[in-house]
Amino acid sequence: MTTAERYRHVIEWFRTHMPDVGSELHYHNAYELLVAVILSAQCTDKRVNMVTPALLDRFPTPRHLAQAEPEDIYPYIKSVSYPNSKAQHLSGMARKLVSDFGGEVPDDLEALQTLPGVGRKTANVMGIIMFGKSVMPVDTHVFRVSDRLGLTTGAKNPLQAEQQLTAGFPTEWLPVAHHWLILHGRYVCLARKPHCEACGLTPWCRYYATEMADLETTASTQKHAVSKKAPQKTGKIRPGNRTADARPTSAGKAAADAEPSLREDTELTATRKQKSHRKTE
Ligand code: SF4
Repeated sequence: MTTAERYRHVIEWFRTHMPDVGSELHYHNAYELLVAVILSAQCTDKRVNMVTPALLDRFPTPRHLAQAEPEDIYPYIKSVSYPNSKAQHLSGMARKLVSDFGGEVPDDLEALQTLPGVGRKTANVMGIIMFGKSVMPVDTHVFRVSDRLGLTTGAKNPLQAEQQLTAGFPTEWLPVAHHWLILHGRYVCLARKPHCEACGLTPWCRYYATEMADLETTASTQKHAVSKKAPQKTGKIRPGNRTADARPTSAGKAAADAEPSLREDTELTATRKQKSHRKTE
């Protein structure tokens, strides 16, 4: 399957099964979204949505937030990850918004990245959600899912993944594709253990195809090894070799017949666990 075909099938599947997607962050304007996206770094949207109502009630505009010290902001966001540095980022972001942009969130992605706490991914998220830009923010979910699916190949960092995805998705699908990949990574293609059994993308997933091929190879190799070790059933018992223990019984024959397949199952399970452990590492 070519990469172009993979993209086409993946887009078709998501269009059919996830037609309406969007950010799970709660916001009413660009300022509120910017605050929420800064807080969402290394944190769940659910947790962010729990703290933003009180935070934005206390600091409803960039000018209110610009007057606050990080220590004033900290109590409102202490339950999110990295609250100290995020309090500093929010304070710095608001002050620069007021001093350099008249208190308005700029729609230019380069200008956005001059704000404290706003990197390329955050600027791109603002770009697609608030300003209708065709860009591809790459977070940990997008990076992982696009690599597993085979939409990216050998990307060593988010920027390389972004470049490949931007080239692979038709421009008009980029904003929604970001949400597709994020939500799929959040709820199905989990980092530690992807739920391939519940995923409709298996026919076009590179990771799934590789996993299945590996398992089949392992099973075939082990079956071959077991059959070579297994005693040959000639039906003849030479005089002098026959002992009481070796005498065939119906129960013993059933156990002997069952043993290779049991061993295969056990070894296959162990192999799967080792492979899973290696992937987790
Ligand atoms: S088949 Fe598995 S690895 Fe591939 S996208 Fe689906 S959940 Fe992820």
